[in-house]
Amino acid sequence: MFCASCGSILLPKKTPYGNWMSCPKGHSQPKMVEKGYDSEEKNKNVGSKLEVSDGINHLAVYDYLCKKCGHGKAEMLEIGAFYSDEDNVVKMKCGKCGFVERLEGKIK
Ligand SMILES: [Zn+2]
Ligand SMILES: [Zn+2]
Repeated sequence: MFCASCGSILLPKKTPYGNWMSCPKGHSQPKMVEKGYDSEEKNKNVGSKLEVSDGINHLAVYDYLCKKCGHGKAEMLEIGAFYSDEDNVVKMKCGKCGFVERLEGKIK
């Protein structure tokens, strides 16, 4: 592990709070939260990517009644035929609750 500030190799250091890696030049390291911080940050990014900021799915512009929550607009997800031997697969994703239903047959 290296110093976050200067890149020096960190050395083990004894402190009243325990032993941890410390920069020989005295830069402080975010050592207390190393692992927890990383995974938390990752989860946060994934979450914000999936969630729409204002709670409205702007891609849900098709009239479709959600079987789960009764919402009347859905996003159309079309999966190309190259994924399977069949015709294009169309799925409708509810703009409110995110319920995804696969449609049988074609939509016109
Ligand atoms: Zn340093
Ligand atoms: Zn729904």
